[in-house]
Amino acid sequence: MGIMECSRNGCDQILCECYSFEYGYICNECKEELKQFIKTSLMDLPHANIDDLIEEFMDMRKDEEVTCCVDVDEYIDREFDNK
Ligand SMILES: [Zn+2]
Repeated sequence: MGIMECSRNGCDQILCECYSFEYGYICNECKEELKQFIKTSLMDLPHANIDDLIEEFMDMRKDEEVTCCVDVDEYIDREFDNK
């Protein structure tokens, strides 16, 4: 048992249980976010390559706002605030 550092860019989790031969370790939090990211991406681009999407996700910094996980209703309500 060594350090199992999450391979996602900007993620500092070091106790990951999930491992991919291709991408290395990933923590549960990133894994759930990744699933959401892929589902949302496939809605927009049904023919997108999932491996490409995983790669894109792993490169995306964790603290970056991931568009797919933004609550659109909330976002728009905030953007077009009643003045
Ligand atoms: Zn992570």
